[in-house]
Amino acid sequence: MCNHGDAHNHNHVHGHHHVHGDQAHRLSSNHDSGRDRGSRRDFLRVLMGGALAGASVLELAYHRAAWARAATPADDDLFKIQKAAEGVYFAQARPQTVINCNAAIFVRSKDVVVVDAHSKPSAAASIIRQIKREVTDKPVRYVINTHFHWDHTQGDHAYAMTGSKVDFIASSMTKHLMEEFAVARMKASRDAVPGQIEAMRKRAEGATSEAEKAFCAEEIRHLEAYQADIKDYHLELPTITFDKSYLLADPAFDLHLDFHGRSHTAGDVFVYCPQQRALATGDAIHGWLPNIADGYPRLWPGTIDEVAKADFKNLMGGHGPLQVDRTVMTCQRNYIEELVERVEAGKKAGQTLKEMQARLTVASLKSMRSNGYQGFLERTVAAGNSHFGPMPPLQDGVNANIADVYKNLDRA
Ligand SMILES: [Zn+2]
Ligand SMILES: [Zn+2]
Repeated sequence: MCNHGDAHNHNHVHGHHHVHGDQAHRLSSNHDSGRDRGSRRDFLRVLMGGALAGASVLELAYHRAAWARAATPADDDLFKIQKAAEGVYFAQARPQTVINCNAAIFVRSKDVVVVDAHSKPSAAASIIRQIKREVTDKPVRYVINTHFHWDHTQGDHAYAMTGSKVDFIASSMTKHLMEEFAVARMKASRDAVPGQIEAMRKRAEGATSEAEKAFCAEEIRHLEAYQADIKDYHLELPTITFDKSYLLADPAFDLHLDFHGRSHTAGDVFVYCPQQRALATGDAIHGWLPNIADGYPRLWPGTIDEVAKADFKNLMGGHGPLQVDRTVMTCQRNYIEELVERVEAGKKAGQTLKEMQARLTVASLKSMRSNGYQGFLERTVAAGNSHFGPMPPLQDGVNANIADVYKNLDRA
């Protein structure tokens, strides 16, 4: 996936080292898939994310006992954990060079269920420490991977190394996609790092302020840490899989895991807690522009309509802030539907992709104008990505979405 790969990236260097296209990917949170639409260089850039200055897997093993201790360096707080409902917590990922997904945390009567595991073991180790320090002493018993993307699964192994029994749950399709793509995409992200570091060094040379130089140095530190972090990458395949539904029952509350149809990938699952009216959605519904690179644009709105039948108040997406009503969910649904309609019409009229991207401006999209969706996206993308200087325009991300809809229009 070249440009489209894995990047909710954000190394937005002000343009001089980055081509337009890869800014688009960053903006559209195209972090995860990886097709072949761009140059190798773009690919590298897209995959570049930030890594925690943190422990490698081996170091994690060494420090395993330390995870239980309360003392943690301040810069280790990679997540902002907030209570969403009784026993339900939303861990929002802070910006990092190599992006992390958010996590949903469910504290049950005797243990904890965590939804999604970030882009690297050190980030998962960090949230394990934060849960102990800020939420509960109960052990994490289940990790649910909403889908196969690298920024939601590469940290799984840290949970396996905590010493207590952990099962990994995903849809059968997600397991299949992990078997097929997880290692290749991890390698692609790893192989991309030297080029990304080089680009950041060049940017530092041309930097116009000490602050920008410091930013570059920090980005490089994170990239090097990411290399160490995934050097001994161990793929944790799901230990529990299901096709349609799986129930985690507990005296505290129930968690319903459901596949409602294809959307962001072929295997996305939603985690719904009826008693606490909370829903974890992965990247099928989140607070950034959707990533459609591995997606099913025609089916996606219908999948959201299915999950929308549930009675929930708090929606915990894979990126962006906690959503406390259905506004953004509806905006995202309508945006994807509008893109499909317009790209389909453009294809019928014989337009090229470039022509469609020129016509399909942010200003021309009804869905962007309704309920403040455009402003919301601009704020959340800027707040969620490590960057120095202005973010690229939202149109870049929309153009990436148009290209993905164009490519994936008839996937079913
Ligand atoms: Zn994803
Ligand atoms: Zn993601």
